[in-house]
Amino acid sequence: MMVLAFSAYEEALRDGRLLGLRCAACNKVTIPPQAVCQWCASRDMKVEQLSGEGVLETFTIIRVPPEGFEEEAPYIVCLVSLKEGCRIIGRLDHDVERADQSLIGKKVRMKGAYTWKGDKFSAGSHSCPLFETVEG
Ligand SMILES: [Zn+2]
Repeated sequence: MMVLAFSAYEEALRDGRLLGLRCAACNKVTIPPQAVCQWCASRDMKVEQLSGEGVLETFTIIRVPPEGFEEEAPYIVCLVSLKEGCRIIGRLDHDVERADQSLIGKKVRMKGAYTWKGDKFSAGSHSCPLFETVEG
C-alpha cells in the first residue's frame, strides 16, 4: 500500500509543501512517493514535510519540447539535491537566456508547484516542484 498517493503528493505541491517519505529502516528520504524505500526497499515509511531547500545539481533547457509541451518551450528542467539527502526533478524558474554553467551548485528553494495541462499520455494535469535560486 502506498503511504502517500501521488495525487496527494501533487496536491501538497500545489499548496506549497514538498512531501517525502522517511524510511524507518534506513532513515533516508524517498521522493517522489513510491511504495517502497528507494534506498533499501523497506515498506516502513512515514510522510514528512521537507524543507524544499537544496543545491542545483544540474539542469537542461528544453527548446525542442515533447508533444503536448509546445507552448511552454523554452523551459528549464532541473535536478536538485535536497538538504534531506535525496534528489528531485523539477522546473527552474529562471531566465532561459541567462541560464548557464554558473548556476550549477547554487542554492535553490522550492517556490511552489509547476502544473502542466498534460497530454494524451498523462491522464490529465500534473505538478512538479518549481525551484528558484537563492541569493548568497
Ligand atoms: Zn530505507
